[in-house]
Amino acid sequence: MSDLRPRPRVRSRSRDLVELSGPALSAALGEDSIVVLPTGAIEHHGPHLPLATDWLMADLISRAVVEEAAAGGQDVWLLPPLAYTKSDEHHWAPGTVWLTAETLLRTVVDIGRSVAATPARTLVFYNGHGGNIALLQVALRELRRRFGLRTFLMGTGMVAGDGVNGPDEHGFGVHGGHSETSMILHLRPDLVDMGQARRWIPDHLLDTEYVRFNGGPVHFGWTSDDFGPDGVVGDASGANAAWGAELHATAVRNGVAQLAEIARFRHRPPGGPAA
Ligand SMILES: [Zn+2]
Repeated sequence: MSDLRPRPRVRSRSRDLVELSGPALSAALGEDSIVVLPTGAIEHHGPHLPLATDWLMADLISRAVVEEAAAGGQDVWLLPPLAYTKSDEHHWAPGTVWLTAETLLRTVVDIGRSVAATPARTLVFYNGHGGNIALLQVALRELRRRFGLRTFLMGTGMVAGDGVNGPDEHGFGVHGGHSETSMILHLRPDLVDMGQARRWIPDHLLDTEYVRFNGGPVHFGWTSDDFGPDGVVGDASGANAAWGAELHATAVRNGVAQLAEIARFRHRPPGGPAA
């Protein structure tokens, strides 16, 4: 015979901050709580990947990181991901939905101001789009100075293929290349068209001495159509779901460890003036 007595309401184990009521949020968060804001992008990713590529990665990987960190006892919470961010390098491509640098800075500052109104004192950007990095680094200091938040930037850790794990992308595998395509083949294979995947490496930029795409002493302003009509920067031809699964496991493992160090991190030496 089934037990028809009313059961006590099972406490939600979700770490989605917006599933809480306002009062429940105030009760659940404390000064050691970490709030994570995933930042994605909606932008052209060539003919083989969906516009939502960076948003999918930020959303799905940050969720896996936060759930595993919470299961391990960390006081960490997730905000809904920011879909529209700074994708002006792909402004020329239909389907890209982008904010200016000014708009994105104002947006994340406004979100940070709202987080600062909760008991939590730590905001972490979990970023899935390289075009956001420079601006989010500016936002880290802006939010610390204006609202006293402890602010951090972490991300999916996508790296260009180095000839050992995948093709040598010569540092160019940052957009629609081996790693990203493999990751989406792992996360959402239904959205990938490998029949359209190719090698998109700008060979004319491989032998410059100072002016380098990624990590040289001289940076240059670029838009993604500089490198070819498809706007992809990398080699997607050998992408595969197995490598995507490995990247995903690494990103989750590293993300959990990074959040733990963020929780322990102190800006100033013990005994000194308070931050
Ligand atoms: Zn991307």
